[in-house]
Amino acid sequence: MAPFRHAFGRSSEVSLFTLGTMRAICSIEQMTTVLRGAFDVGINHIETAPVYGPAESFLGKSLQKLTRQGIVPDGGWVITSKLLPGLSYYDGKKAISAILERLGKSHIDNLAIHGINRKEHLKWALTGEGSDLLRWAEETGLVSQVGFSSHGSHELIQETLDSERFQFCSLHLHLFDQQRIPLAKRALAKGIGVMAISPADKGGHLHTPSSILVDDCRPFTPLEIAYRFLLSTGISTLTIGASKIEDLKLPKKLINADGPLDLEEITVLNRLKNRCFLRLGETFCGQCRRCIPCPQDVPIPEVLRLRNLAVGYDMQVFAKERYNLIGKAGHWWEEVDASACMDCGKCIPLCPNDLNIPQLLEDTHRRLMSSPSRRLWG
Ligand code: SF4
Ligand code: SF4
Repeated sequence: MAPFRHAFGRSSEVSLFTLGTMRAICSIEQMTTVLRGAFDVGINHIETAPVYGPAESFLGKSLQKLTRQGIVPDGGWVITSKLLPGLSYYDGKKAISAILERLGKSHIDNLAIHGINRKEHLKWALTGEGSDLLRWAEETGLVSQVGFSSHGSHELIQETLDSERFQFCSLHLHLFDQQRIPLAKRALAKGIGVMAISPADKGGHLHTPSSILVDDCRPFTPLEIAYRFLLSTGISTLTIGASKIEDLKLPKKLINADGPLDLEEITVLNRLKNRCFLRLGETFCGQCRRCIPCPQDVPIPEVLRLRNLAVGYDMQVFAKERYNLIGKAGHWWEEVDASACMDCGKCIPLCPNDLNIPQLLEDTHRRLMSSPSRRLWG
């Protein structure tokens, strides 16, 4: 059976899994091996970026090599690369030409504006120099369509989706962070392609799960149930950042698994939720967001989501990593941590779960504050 393909905006259809190239940058040989593996499992969509070091040039050379061997998916490879917002018209043209040169292509299907995280980024794309640049890229046929990724607020993502400028979006959609799923559904309803980014790593370090999480997810692995959850929502595709052939085992198994959740999967997802409730007791944050905005700009739901994960699933390492990046990753992540809470009490009556929010914020800070360990882009 031919691998399933999903619509992705108005450009070429894409496989359920997208090969992210940020982990195959040790050598051209590594990139070629991973690309060949992706072809073998039925992947036709590749995601890359100038900020992934040598990924684009390694990818270009690997594509040429595999093409010479006749290893090309039906309809050809679909390539998505990225451009940071804010460039001048002139520098943007140079940047797009450089992407194409590194990839050895005269055109690519998809160009994503990488990180519409602030209002000024959207303004650049809609009415600033970015507007002329993106029109030029499409009209000259250098890119088939333009999309965006965002780590910004829900309101900003919604405004970006509603701007009619973009044909696809790359969003953080995760089993353990479902806040943006309604935005993904809104995008799909408008015919905008949706790519879930980093479901394994930013989705909770699911490649190295805690023993509690492993136990909660049986008979599936945490990564498998997370992938199935995402695919069942109807998204176009999700990224897998492979560095070796073994990383493609799950995509191989799930390459056509976009159907509704079956009874066993639903049972596991319910068990996950129930055990998390039990472990958190009356301190569970339901992520309803009614408590914000906080006068001190504390991102209460996000901080308490990390607490939910640390206490509810023993996802300490992930929660600590994310918590300690607050304020250190510019507009790519939250900028204020729990220690900014002044205990004014304004949020408490807004919480339908009657949480003592300032106390829980203090507890979260105590549990998760430590030295930062690492950061992968975006
Ligand atoms: S108690 Fe703390 S978190 Fe709540 S509104 Fe006041 S400053 Fe913000
Ligand atoms: S209002 Fe309460 S339950 Fe809702 S996000 Fe805020 S702390 Fe969590």
